[in-house]
Amino acid sequence: MALIVQKFGGTSVGDLDKIRNVAERIARTYDQGNDMVVVLSAMSGETDKLLGLAGKITGFPDKREIDVLITTGEQVSISLMVITLQSMGYKACSILGHQAGILTDSSFTRARILDIKATRIKELLAEKTIVIVAGFQGADKKGDITTLGRGGSDTSAVAVAAALKADKCEIFTDVDGIYTADPNICSKASKLDRISYDEMLEMASLGAKVLQIRSVEFAKKYNVPVHVRSSFNEEEGTMVVYEDANMEKVVVSGVTHNKNEARITLSKVPDRPGIAKQILEPIANARIGVDMIIQNTRAGNMTDLTFTVPKPDFEAALEIERKVAEKIGAEEVIGDSNIAKVSVVGVGMRSHSGVASKMFSTLAAENINILMISTSEIRISCVIEEKYTELAVRALHTAFGLDAS
Ligand code: ASP
Ligand code: MG
Repeated sequence: MALIVQKFGGTSVGDLDKIRNVAERIARTYDQGNDMVVVLSAMSGETDKLLGLAGKITGFPDKREIDVLITTGEQVSISLMVITLQSMGYKACSILGHQAGILTDSSFTRARILDIKATRIKELLAEKTIVIVAGFQGADKKGDITTLGRGGSDTSAVAVAAALKADKCEIFTDVDGIYTADPNICSKASKLDRISYDEMLEMASLGAKVLQIRSVEFAKKYNVPVHVRSSFNEEEGTMVVYEDANMEKVVVSGVTHNKNEARITLSKVPDRPGIAKQILEPIANARIGVDMIIQNTRAGNMTDLTFTVPKPDFEAALEIERKVAEKIGAEEVIGDSNIAKVSVVGVGMRSHSGVASKMFSTLAAENINILMISTSEIRISCVIEEKYTELAVRALHTAFGLDAS
């Protein structure tokens, strides 16, 4: 007998038939003698629909009210699930985030979990009730309803598993697990059996579609092994766990790509102290996140500074830099949104050398020009022209021996 936390996403509870399927799956695990806590998302499309309604009234709805609004999606799915389980003869009870004791800070629409007082869940478990928890939501210390950011039910599940010291945390989703590359563009990609928390965090662009990144940070902090698996079959998925010695043997675990960035260059900037601050501070003040930054020197005490921003913020960032350029006497502001970032990720990089040169020679062999490079301890990323993304991912996947046989 074990204490199992399961999470089902929106597509898994998208209509009454699917809810019934999930209920049967929950019941099977319960019948094996396990204690069950199940975290649900809203039925697919619900959260977007609710946000759309508010958006029709105003472009800037109050965030506190948005959270009151969008948490109703989960209230619907959990009650329908309990009604289904009860109709099958099971003892089940739905609880909202605040009833589950999920205490967050007050950053509406992107709150962080501070603590979980799982007393109510434990009481229900003690009487062998299946507990169905609303994902994505909590409440701040005033009791106001908060949400954890889009995709936040994953984080709810991991946090509940950590608070209960659950034996298993299973995230059921509409894919089989985490892949070595996006299977949509790399047909030879294969499912990983295991991946470390750090690799998963570095693979954000690949992994984020499957797990909210914050849930991985949470899992790492509280050492919760997370099993990502399909809700439509019984296959084992991918275990997201602490790194072990075996993982280092594999140099590269995955190849990811991200087409969601654009780059901005300020050329012929006078090279003097404070210049990077003058260029990047207004971007930070506009709450635009910068990913890569490169500065190179030119003759005549001049420099070029290039950085990348998320594509949706590109125009705003360009506007800001045109003003900055005038102020600091830069010659030109050049923007380019037809770029992509390809990355190779693997904890094995710590103990193997030559990974970067292999990546560069692989891209060179395909005649792909590298525009920017950045690295971390377990990742190397190159910015290239967007039109070469698929080619680059496939070539790197082959070069690092990841192709499924
Ligand atoms: N329903 C929320 C969303 O769509 C939370 C989740 O699905 O995890 O973002
Ligand atoms: Mg999700």
